[in-house]
Amino acid sequence: MSLTSKLPGVGTTIFTVMSKLAADEGAINLSQGYPDFDGPPLLLERVGHYLNNGYNQYPPMAGVEPLREAIAHKVNALYGATLDPETEVTVTSGATEALFCAVTAVIQPGDEAIVFDPCYDSYEPAVTLAGGTCRHIPLYAPDFRIDWDRVADALGPRTRLIMANTPHNPTGAVWDERDIDGLRNVLARGDLYVVADEVYEHIIFDGRPHVSLARYPEVFDRSFVVSSFGKTYHATGWKVAYCVAPAELSAEFRRIHQFVTFTTATPLQYGIADFLSQCPEHHENLAAFYQAKRDLFCSLLAESRFKLTPSAGTFFQLLDYGAITNEPDAQLAKRWTIEEKVASIPISIFYDEPPNQELLRFCFAKDDATLEKAAQILCRL
Ligand code: PMP
Ligand code: GLN
Repeated sequence: MSLTSKLPGVGTTIFTVMSKLAADEGAINLSQGYPDFDGPPLLLERVGHYLNNGYNQYPPMAGVEPLREAIAHKVNALYGATLDPETEVTVTSGATEALFCAVTAVIQPGDEAIVFDPCYDSYEPAVTLAGGTCRHIPLYAPDFRIDWDRVADALGPRTRLIMANTPHNPTGAVWDERDIDGLRNVLARGDLYVVADEVYEHIIFDGRPHVSLARYPEVFDRSFVVSSFGKTYHATGWKVAYCVAPAELSAEFRRIHQFVTFTTATPLQYGIADFLSQCPEHHENLAAFYQAKRDLFCSLLAESRFKLTPSAGTFFQLLDYGAITNEPDAQLAKRWTIEEKVASIPISIFYDEPPNQELLRFCFAKDDATLEKAAQILCRL
């Protein structure tokens, strides 16, 4: 008996592969994106409180009311969208789940989605499982800007979805108003929806704003906007995220969500709701916190042979290793994990057709001592 795979071209994710290799080899793990420190003590205390006081059964399918209300309030305060928490906010088990449900809600068999390469690895499998295909638009170093004329040219009769991601993983590129104009023009040309992956919304550097799609009513009308508490609260393992979308889109989203995970861990939801109402300003320090780490990491590498453009957002820094070797990045990331004891993520695997680039992604969401140790090794290469 043999099972026919629906994802025959897909192996284990690069994040799992590299984190396992780093652990097996005792390497400093700057590959998979997660902090090596905890979130705010009050948040941990609040979650512990609910865990220890009987909040351990199923919550409502769309998320507990205080959390949906807190999310609606936050999105309104930051981006101006007025959301009904009853019908337009859904809590999910990670952004991964939200992205999957949103893609599944939009894509019919034979439809096309536009993705920008290097493209976060969960997008295309979600489109494929829904019976669609991806049209890949490549972005290039050093700024990885989107050529919106090229996007307009790529639209076909079956194009239904644009997968947006700002700040962008793995490049750190950040959209600005020109991208919103470009997106608006493209949306005007077809029956299109947008899934906006904004999980790094609070991690943008050098004073630049986050152009959430929730800011632009005529764009938000056709959008599913996704964010994740994993990034904002240094708690990637909790897998608590959300999708905000107009009621009609949210209804279809929930139709799917109820059969994917149904809901998300109760004590985490109540704990996050308390924290959001008691410390609404927490996210305001996040950009400065990570900018200091970016600057430390980049300055420690100033004397190295790597070339870099400081990341504009996310907690990732791309390093160009072209002056050191011309080995393919996937091979090099593994070799350096084994031989040099620093793990990173190769960029080529996020492209349908990898361009001639020599880039590795390093996560700087780490204690300064960890970054210093890693940089010492990188400076020797
Ligand atoms: N989108 C992007 C761009 C990400 O980097 C990640 C993970 N870090 C996710 C989605 C998934 O987030 P979550 O862990 O909340 O599922
Ligand atoms: N988003 C994380 C990263 O980019 C990984 C998440 C995962 O492993 N699925 O490293």
